[in-house]
Amino acid sequence: MASTLRSAAVRCANGSKTSFTARASATSRRYLSISSRPSPQPFRAPNPRNAIKLQPSIFNNFPTRQFSTVANDADQKAIALEIPVFQFKDILPHGELPPTRNIKVNIDGQPFIFDNVFLRDSCTCSTCVDPSTQQKLFTTSDIPTEIYPRRARVSEGNLKIEWSHRLPKSAVEESLKNDFHWSYYGGEFLKNHATPISSVKSNMSDFRRIYWDKKIMEKEVFWIEYEDYMKNELELAKALRHLSFYGLIFIRNVPDGREVDQVPDLAERIGNLKKTFYGDTWTVKSIPKSKNIAYTSLDLGLHMDLLYFESPPGLQFLHCVENTVTGGESYFADAMRAAFMIQATSQQVFNTLTQFPVNFHYHNDAKHYRFSRPTIVMKSPSENYHPQLGIDHINWAPPFQAPFTMDHNGAMVSKSPQWRTFLKGMNQLNEQFENPANQYEYLLKEGDCVVFFNRRVLHARRGFDAESGKRRLTGGYVDIDAFESACRVLAERYPDHGRQDTTGFEYLTEHAKQFGYTQWS
Ligand SMILES: [Zn+2]
Repeated sequence: MASTLRSAAVRCANGSKTSFTARASATSRRYLSISSRPSPQPFRAPNPRNAIKLQPSIFNNFPTRQFSTVANDADQKAIALEIPVFQFKDILPHGELPPTRNIKVNIDGQPFIFDNVFLRDSCTCSTCVDPSTQQKLFTTSDIPTEIYPRRARVSEGNLKIEWSHRLPKSAVEESLKNDFHWSYYGGEFLKNHATPISSVKSNMSDFRRIYWDKKIMEKEVFWIEYEDYMKNELELAKALRHLSFYGLIFIRNVPDGREVDQVPDLAERIGNLKKTFYGDTWTVKSIPKSKNIAYTSLDLGLHMDLLYFESPPGLQFLHCVENTVTGGESYFADAMRAAFMIQATSQQVFNTLTQFPVNFHYHNDAKHYRFSRPTIVMKSPSENYHPQLGIDHINWAPPFQAPFTMDHNGAMVSKSPQWRTFLKGMNQLNEQFENPANQYEYLLKEGDCVVFFNRRVLHARRGFDAESGKRRLTGGYVDIDAFESACRVLAERYPDHGRQDTTGFEYLTEHAKQFGYTQWS
């Protein structure tokens, strides 16, 4: 990629004085006059707060780089790098740069600050990252915090830095005894790490989460043919993107599952099946005196699975193998949307729901699983830059709740000042979930498979008449990590698809407006 990047190189310390001066006066007069003598003033590193301007807004950027990561022709055309001349105004007598804590790089004409330790830590040369395993060969703590670029230059669209210090403990650096370490950074890398938005967008999956109600889901519901899902990678990529945005998709015309379980093949298109005490996959049908409410014909309310695990599965498959009973419709609700609505009405109630612990358990059949978690879980601050990214997942599984114990401050429920606020929040959430206007209902037919986010989308089924026919579903789980990995890999393979996809743009804009986010960084 480097060879085709446009370069605006500034010759620095190792260049001649003449070219240095000429470049300075031509491009950046405002950076003072250039002198090759050491400045009488102590050198002051540029203030990052003044220098970084994070713009344009996320919506101006919107469809351009969803998943990113792999360079391609479209990316190569226009990343222009330049090291501002002012970095070198206090050049040292022997032609080296003065110590600084960071380096300023203009990317496409905009200035960005990169911390020296960050850059040294990110070196991907073959002595820093094993070319075969792609594993890093030193630790961050090996880097002297006073490290700075001895020399830096831009050429062929790469930023090249020669470092002031070697890594003392690194065996790698032993081989470089007589030489200083050079690191190379492509324009794409620097651009991806220039702002919070670009770094999240380049390293994670797409940030869009499109909250839905019945009306939206009826319009946006996504079906993929089994053949396409299994054999057409681009169609799979589209399906997974939709799943990522809405948390719910359907596969149709899945082969008969009576003889051969189809769920392993469906699941392993994305990642490994997550084995639980229910098995690799499991079958849901009406069994008298069942140990689990799912195996009865009773109405099974909206819930999530396995919240009594430390790591509940992120993705659930339900393949309808047989369905001839009366009733038994499946329905789904977007729990994140409900939480978002509460946040929009009362931040206090919402906050309590993010803190108050709810106990979940499975205590039956010689097993006793138990885990405690708040109802709403937020993303970490480093990923939380958009109102729709704020919520990470929801925990809601009334059939598996254990008695409450203490609040988040260790007070017994009877003495907890938060308890009533928490209950108010639970009521409000439940009202949102149970409102038919928020539910998407569908009667699964033989050969249908629904795939949904278990940490976001609640699932349920209506009661059915067990005597009226047969009903049999086969289910399986996949961890969300495997799903996200698959999304990233497919996005790397089909970057153009992601770039052109503006799914959900209008909904996102609408939600952002509710929070007064018109521009943010
Ligand atoms: Zn290196």
